Amino acid sequence: MINSNYGANGKAGHHMNGSSARYAEAFSDEIGAQHVGTSYDTPMKPNAFELSDEEKMRQVEGHFREIMDVLGLDLTDDSLRGTPKRVAKMFVKEIFSGLNPENKPGISLFDNKFRYRQMLVEKGIRVQSFCEHHFLPIYGQAHIAYIANGKVIGLSKLNRIVEYYARRPQVQERLTVQIANELKKVLGTDDVAVYIDAKHMCVEMRGVEHQHCSTVTTEYSGKFLNENTRAEFLQVIR
Ligand SMILES: [Zn+2]
Repeated sequence: MINSNYGANGKAGHHMNGSSARYAEAFSDEIGAQHVGTSYDTPMKPNAFELSDEEKMRQVEGHFREIMDVLGLDLTDDSLRGTPKRVAKMFVKEIFSGLNPENKPGISLFDNKFRYRQMLVEKGIRVQSFCEHHFLPIYGQAHIAYIANGKVIGLSKLNRIVEYYARRPQVQERLTVQIANELKKVLGTDDVAVYIDAKHMCVEMRGVEHQHCSTVTTEYSGKFLNENTRAEFLQVIR
């Protein structure tokens, strides 16, 4: 289960390992902002894809215009007029495009001709996501490792998998597990590790405004449950 640990010291870089990702954040300031997910699947309505993207953009634009209007902004102003439409397009086509399985990257595997049986680590993959509790950015880096089981994956595909799952309203621990599960599926091996170190704008900008902490989530499975293998991985990404 998820293990939330809100220390009082607010120190950066809390790090917890586990066979299932454990989520730690330095603190929490209010009930409802614990950033704890309940499932490894993104909670979606059964009819999530009944509306076309065009219809979703049309409706989001209208609702966002309402929000701006309620906030008192003058939507006849040149600078603001196009904002609802821009935001709607950005939500549907860009930053939340990973909600739609149609946008899942196609993955091609290659035969592992070189008989490479060691750990492969892809370091420093950019993570840009959104906290689903505040709709503010989460940004940082992911480090991914796997041990090839006869097949290898194009390196850029690792970035694509991260990007696909990041482009949703997320909690960091769920993002970590979703990436790991996808890797296991496409690579046909349990020997995967995912490590994400990210900052949350909702922590930096609001609430207690603590600006120097980052959140580390990890998911290890297969051979990475072995202490030596895991140590090798952590050594490489350090
Ligand atoms: Zn948040």
